[in-house]
This record gives sequence, structure tokens and C-alpha cells, in this order.
Amino acid sequence: MRILLTNDDGIHAPGLWALHAALAPGNEVTIVAPDRERTGVGHAITLHHPLRTALLAVNGTEGYAVNGTPADCVKLAILEILVGRPDLVVSGLNPGANVGVNIHYSGTVAAAREAALGGIPAIAASIDGRAPRDLASPARFVRRLADRITAHGLRPGTFLNVNFPDVGWEATAGVRVSRQGLSVFREYVEKRLDPRNRPYYWQGADVQRFDEDPPDVDGSALRSGYVSVTPIRCDVTDYDGIDRLKGWDLDLNGGEGGA
Ligand code: MN
Repeated sequence: MRILLTNDDGIHAPGLWALHAALAPGNEVTIVAPDRERTGVGHAITLHHPLRTALLAVNGTEGYAVNGTPADCVKLAILEILVGRPDLVVSGLNPGANVGVNIHYSGTVAAAREAALGGIPAIAASIDGRAPRDLASPARFVRRLADRITAHGLRPGTFLNVNFPDVGWEATAGVRVSRQGLSVFREYVEKRLDPRNRPYYWQGADVQRFDEDPPDVDGSALRSGYVSVTPIRCDVTDYDGIDRLKGWDLDLNGGEGGA
């Protein structure tokens, strides 16, 4: 299998290399990853300055470092670097869960979405810990998941978002297929003053309030010690909303036959 491996933590991140170790045997794996951490850039792409690649030797393996975002890396890999389309794109392993609303901000998830937009099966993989205690076992699970994708296929426009609890593999409860939760972060902005007395702002967010999540969502699975696997679609249309919106009788001139 031809696999494109990327992440949003930069080419030197341990999670990427754990995935490489698990995926490389028997597969043709190409690494195209950001040259520095790009966590939280979402699906941003670079339009206002040139992209450059550097072929680096890391851990005895060559990989392409790109001065762009995760979505840039996937685009550049498919359009230019790879010879032929990959069979699978894998993004991760991200330290820090990508569940719930996080999916919209995550560079890790965006790389997988970028692949799915191009009709290529993809996996985004994250661990619920800033310094995960075990990368090798989750990486081996991602490899088995890749084999299942080969066996079963994914619908075009769908990719898998997998999150691992950071409880150690022996303590992991099992695998739960979940849906995306929508509970929000407790967000805040700290206002500070610079040396010239001008205010600046530093935003942050506390851990998600998992307690309010229904049991079938991704965050609840993690909190219960399960590996969470969520199929995510690129099409974010609210299909029920189409008929409701049609009932608004929208027209060019403001309705009621126009003014
Ligand atoms: Mn990250």
C-alpha cells in the first residue's frame, strides 16, 4: 500500500515517527509534514508566500519538510512530490485529543479531510494526552485500521477520526464507534499589557466538559477508556435544514412578490 504520512506537529514529532515505524513494514510510506508545529491551524492553506520543501534525514529515514500547513502538505504531496496517488493518507499521532468541536480547529484532522476531499481514504489519529505514555500500541492499531480500510473501503468524502485514551494499552477498555460531540471548551482571553502599556490578548481553553456529553459521542468514549473511531464526512450540509429553508420562500426581491 502507498501511504502518505503527515501531521500538524512537525516532521520531528515523536507521534509521526511512531506511525512510521508501525506502517513502514510492507508498505511504501512517504513523509510530507510541516517543518514546525502547526497545531490548531485547521484547514488553512498558504497562498501569499511560496512553499518550499526540504528533504531531511530523520531517524535514518527521509521525509519532506514543508514550510506550510498540514493541508498544504497533503496538496503538495499529491500534486507534486508523490509519484502516483497514495492509497491512504495518515495524519498523527497528535498529542492531545481531537474530539468534539476540536475537529474544526485541528490541523491533524484537516490533513485527513484534505485527502478525503480528493477522494483518498484517510485516518486522523490523536492521543488524549500532551505527553502520551505509549505511542507504539496506538500506532499498531492505526496500521490495523488501515488494513480494514483496504478490506472494506471508505465512502468517497469520508475519513476516520481515531482518538486513543492515554491510560496504557492494557487498561484500554476497547474500541467504540462514535459520533462527533459538540460540547464546547471553556474559552477565555487573558488581557495583558506590553512594555509600552498597550493591551494584548492571549487566548486559551480549558479541557472540554465531557460530563455533559451524551454517551455515544467521541469524548465520552475516550473518558470511558475506549478508543474512539468516528467516520467524518467532508459534506457538512444540514440535510433536514434544506426543506426548512425552502419553506422560507426566499426570492431575489425579498418575498411577498417584492417591494
Ligand atoms: Mn498537534
